[in-house]
Amino acid sequence: MSFAFFPSHPIVEATYTSLPNSLFQFTKPTPVSSPKVLFWNEELAREFQFEDWTNEKEATAHFFSGTSLPDGIQPFAQAYAGHQFGHFTVLGDGRTIVIGEFQNRAGERFDFQWKGSGKTQYSRNGDGRATLSAMVREYIMSEAMFGLNIPTTRSLAVVATGEVVFREEPQGGAVLTRVASSHIRVGTFEFAYQTLSKEELDSLFQYTANRHTPDVLKTDNPALAFLEFVMKRQVSLITNWMRVGFIHGVMNTDNMSISGETIDYGPCAFMNGYSAKRVFSSIDRMGRYAFTNQLGIGHWNLSCLANSLLPLIDPNQETAIELAKSKLSELESWLHSSYIQMLGEKIGFPHLTEKDMPLLQSLYQWMQDTEADYTNTFLVLEGVYTPKDSIYNESRWKDWVRTWQEEKKKKGIREEEAIALMQKTNPSLIPRNHLVELTLANATQGLTSIVEQFIARGKFPYKREFGYDYAEEVPKGGDGNYRTFCGT
Ligand code: AMP
Ligand code: MG
Repeated sequence: MSFAFFPSHPIVEATYTSLPNSLFQFTKPTPVSSPKVLFWNEELAREFQFEDWTNEKEATAHFFSGTSLPDGIQPFAQAYAGHQFGHFTVLGDGRTIVIGEFQNRAGERFDFQWKGSGKTQYSRNGDGRATLSAMVREYIMSEAMFGLNIPTTRSLAVVATGEVVFREEPQGGAVLTRVASSHIRVGTFEFAYQTLSKEELDSLFQYTANRHTPDVLKTDNPALAFLEFVMKRQVSLITNWMRVGFIHGVMNTDNMSISGETIDYGPCAFMNGYSAKRVFSSIDRMGRYAFTNQLGIGHWNLSCLANSLLPLIDPNQETAIELAKSKLSELESWLHSSYIQMLGEKIGFPHLTEKDMPLLQSLYQWMQDTEADYTNTFLVLEGVYTPKDSIYNESRWKDWVRTWQEEKKKKGIREEEAIALMQKTNPSLIPRNHLVELTLANATQGLTSIVEQFIARGKFPYKREFGYDYAEEVPKGGDGNYRTFCGT
């Protein structure tokens, strides 16, 4: 299908394709029969000077479904590998294709990628397509993550293809345009290390370092400094997930980005009732990616990155291993201190010491035992929510609150100071599972305005309104048996 008119478009580049061609394949998306724009993220479009497209629905549908392309676009699929549930597999973009790189108004480079745009050389047995419902879910979840001020890939557009995608049952198809500061993953380095030459691995390293953290190239050991950069980004990211109750669900190394953005919204979900071992993904039977396991898995994945960087850390393998091990040994304490700092902030303590840990542990144990809502409990503490749930009348809860108040006083933390800290740490709004499902059901029926409303609401998740109970009622039974699926 050809299409003649495209509005002016910003300059597109493909610097990634200067890398050895073992790392990517030039690939064209497969045209679709009747593309129709379902969602268009106007705010993001403006950031990338795509605003002229906003009213050109037909051109937008054609381009952002990969059905017809303006001149100058040379799309490509990226090669990568990954440890999936602990097992190494060679993968690659099986249903995504990088459109190219665009700069935002601040001059920062981002990848634009179609997701669900047809088969590539890396599709294996897959059809290269994505369901409308999975793409809308990614749109909702990634924009919610952005609203929560947590690094994430973003979603520019969802275009319905007008074609059927066959999963357990036939479903409508869609193409999502994903925007990421890059799609380079821990798994990209594993791919280069396991299957390519040292020179090719080094090219990938130089490119990635230049793109994300050029300063490391000026240090004595750039590969080691790069490892430290990724470690710090991931420590911060995972701590943020733990702060808001996010469970990624499939933290395979191919789903861990070098930039530290949340990527690959598959079976992810935010938990209601607290449980350290909460799992939503139907395929995570052993709970490998359960809520609190995310810290340990982050560590495990970063060890895979360290392993892939060994030839660049030192030509002598033993020395390289020693250096990598010593850098990785810092990770546990970074994760621990970042995690407890965040826990402290959740209860309004600017600094938490090891001595305060029993206080926190008893709160978390109480939440675990009662399955208290992870979001609303902190709003109750802050005094902006009057809960209906009887667990907040239990003496165990009341005693804990009393001890917390006393500790605050002992530490000389002023009330306003604690409240200000809690306000910016604890969201009053997360994408609740039952509302996500309801919104998706509406979207697949064509009721797109409900999705827009849901996303608009999620833009200010730390807002409090004086004199108003600023929390959401949680459905009876919390998360019940809520299950998520890779549902590609
Ligand atoms: P994910 O579970 O989305 O992280 O995907 C894991 C791997 O499977 C990646 O290499 C994907 O490109 C590939 N994949 C997932 N779904 C499909 C599909 N429908 N067609 C082709 N490849 C797919
Ligand atoms: Mg993936």
